[in-house]
Amino acid sequence: MTPKRRIIPIFVPHLGCPHACVFCNQKRISGALSPAEPEDVIRQITEGLEKTEKGTEVEAAFYGGSFTAIPPGEQEALLGAALPFLRSGELSSIRLSTRPDCIDEETLARLKCFGVETVELGVQSMKKEVLEASERGHTPQDAEKAARLIKDAGFKLILQMMTGLPGDTPEFSVYTAEKLAEMKPDGVRIYPTVIIKDTPLYDMWRAGEYKEHTVEEAAELCARLLDIFEGAGIPVIRLGLNPTEELSGGAAAGGAYHPAFGEIAASKRYFKKACSAIERAGAAEKMTLIVAPGQISAATGQKRANTEALCRKYGIKRLKIKEGDVKKGEISVFPGS
Ligand code: SF4
Repeated sequence: MTPKRRIIPIFVPHLGCPHACVFCNQKRISGALSPAEPEDVIRQITEGLEKTEKGTEVEAAFYGGSFTAIPPGEQEALLGAALPFLRSGELSSIRLSTRPDCIDEETLARLKCFGVETVELGVQSMKKEVLEASERGHTPQDAEKAARLIKDAGFKLILQMMTGLPGDTPEFSVYTAEKLAEMKPDGVRIYPTVIIKDTPLYDMWRAGEYKEHTVEEAAELCARLLDIFEGAGIPVIRLGLNPTEELSGGAAAGGAYHPAFGEIAASKRYFKKACSAIERAGAAEKMTLIVAPGQISAATGQKRANTEALCRKYGIKRLKIKEGDVKKGEISVFPGS
């Protein structure tokens, strides 16, 4: 049986960031007001371990900043605080997130010495014009080079991309997803743009200079991106910002924020797949859809939206959705129930 896994997030909001990207306010996103210091790292890991069930694989993750752009001495102090937990076996691994223009061989050698196993790279877009409009301060080539260095050095690589950034289009996002898939990461996170208070993007939106990326648009687009990544055998480990009290309480002023965003996007994808499958098989009054184990709720849609829309669209009187031997994200269909 696969052991349970748990991540203890340690937030270092904006630590190392050379400037603020237009969409980003890590204090609002994470709820952490100041970056963790080495003593906070020890406390947070200790508390996290105390709450963890025995037998669980526990990973510490430095999130919310540009870890490898922090002065080397500070990186070593933070990682050094986590290292004894790794050596004692209480932690199974360490991961961190950073920017593509802050990776080189020397940095990766440092991370290796401190037992880091996974590097998450915030690529966001592979279109130069989108990166510029979002004031990312790096190029698509930086992302390609960093991904290559990380993989060559033997780390696990997770790539993060965004949709709906300033200057972005659905075609650009599809292009970005295809380029990311070519880098063969171990997983990806997709974050549709959320308009967060106290960011330049919020001001741009209020001034009419940025058009909101709605939940509906983002879910349609992410359904396409899921096909690209999962079709390439790359797991999508996160879809949409993690819901927090801060974001749900008003910090997310607009854009593609929904606590169940991942499920909405997965449902859209199932709806499209169900339409194609029904059209190929020919609609009948009674039909059964087969989906992978654990996927009935996503295939049915929120408040049975998919089931009802499919019945209306194809004149189906009785539509059953059952679990069966199909791959996650796929659907097979047969007439009858
Ligand atoms: S997106 Fe990343 S690099 Fe940009 S400000 Fe936020 S944490 Fe820093």
